[in-house]
Amino acid sequence: MSASEEWVIGPPRADTRDGTRVLTAPVTGGASHDALPPSIALRIHDTEAIDSSAAPFVPIACALAAWSDATVHVVGPVSRGGADAGHALLDELSRRFGAGRARIVIDGVTDVEARPSGGSTPTLGLFYTRGIDSASTLIAERTRITTLLGLDWVDPPYGDLGQADIWRGTERAAAEEGLPLLRFSSNVRQLLDPIESWSHTHALVLIALAQLVSPRLDRVLLSGAHRRDVAPVDFGNAPDVVNRWRTGSFDVRSFDAADGRTAKTALVGADEHARRHLLVCWEQPGDRNCGRCLKCVQTMSHAHAAGVLAALQSRFEHPLTTEAVESLVGRPCDDATLAVLRELVDDLAHDPLASAWRRVITAAEESGRQVDA
Ligand SMILES: [Zn+2]
Repeated sequence: MSASEEWVIGPPRADTRDGTRVLTAPVTGGASHDALPPSIALRIHDTEAIDSSAAPFVPIACALAAWSDATVHVVGPVSRGGADAGHALLDELSRRFGAGRARIVIDGVTDVEARPSGGSTPTLGLFYTRGIDSASTLIAERTRITTLLGLDWVDPPYGDLGQADIWRGTERAAAEEGLPLLRFSSNVRQLLDPIESWSHTHALVLIALAQLVSPRLDRVLLSGAHRRDVAPVDFGNAPDVVNRWRTGSFDVRSFDAADGRTAKTALVGADEHARRHLLVCWEQPGDRNCGRCLKCVQTMSHAHAAGVLAALQSRFEHPLTTEAVESLVGRPCDDATLAVLRELVDDLAHDPLASAWRRVITAAEESGRQVDA
């Protein structure tokens, strides 16, 4: 992307359509973008209060600025707290990604906060996918969490991969916990995916959606993904990035129930609710864990390392075997996945599965170097 490229997001517009609150903002610029959507829509599928200012678009503007190393104008209004949070967020992203030209310029900063002063009982939300990271956070913070939040992919090209079944499964899990589940959707990947992988950008989108419902919650938790000593620097879900979103009346916090995926898997394996609803597979359509893809085999291996595979095996359609790991040799992995696999090899120690996983890592590193070259 050319360094001189500039973007404009906004002004925002709030509508209620078919029982859904929709905040949209036009997007212009990005001359080299493959297929720029005319506007970004952030949707919450109910009719309760939302932040209808441009503040929910500020984290998305930060992602766009950092990963395209460009200037992004946001047409407000944005509260002073939201603008300050945006600048702090972009400073951290730019430092990590070496994006020296990344800037956000916010027009229409106001002293009016979207959120009324809070009630007496703190309200705490959690983005919940039923995977190991968010399930372990739910276990650890069960007595404090008041609301679950989930992103439902109804937008093309992701909306046809059995998402309706997955969402129904998440609704059942939330109902069993006795917690309300806020259902979000957005077309924002059409804007961000041509620029950077979802693995890196998703945290910024979740912060944006959290801000959308900031009139209802004091704080929202985003679960971390990596053991501290192996976390990639250029990862959008890094705790130091996520924790920058503090507007003064609402904030998003990174949370790890344990340090590392194996330790989190041990928590999940010991929890009856988390076991029953575990969903990690994003490669096979529908509400199932295929037991053969990288995420499934990796999760079963963490469970094996944690000594809880017997408790979780029935959630997977195929057993964990050395051959299942070997079948993944040659499969490309991004840095975020490689970091988790390195944790896994450490945790497996002298187990025979560790050498099979080392071959998966080595092949992925070599194919990554070929791509870089
Ligand atoms: Zn799978």
